Amino acid sequence: MSNCTFEKLPDGRWSCPVCGFQTKQVFDTAPRRNCTKRGLGDVVADCLKAVGVTKRRVSRLFRRRCGCGERQSTLNKLGAKVSQLFSGSGKPG
Ligand SMILES: [Zn+2]
Repeated sequence: MSNCTFEKLPDGRWSCPVCGFQTKQVFDTAPRRNCTKRGLGDVVADCLKAVGVTKRRVSRLFRRRCGCGERQSTLNKLGAKVSQLFSGSGKPG
């Protein structure tokens, strides 16, 4: 069991890239919350780690909201995209 690894959003709310949870309110400091990450998230995280990408980086690269239904395919695409990025497809940064 672990806590959410919240990251501050531009609007002052907090988001956990691990489980996709976002606070509805603005907080000065990151709130405490048990992370409810799913198996899929673990798989994706391992996948990303394998190509040298941390969740923090990914959430910065692809700053988008987690849609419940879309999440699975989004994460799959994300993994593929990131793999491409880091396999050196030509474009810098
Ligand atoms: Zn979380």
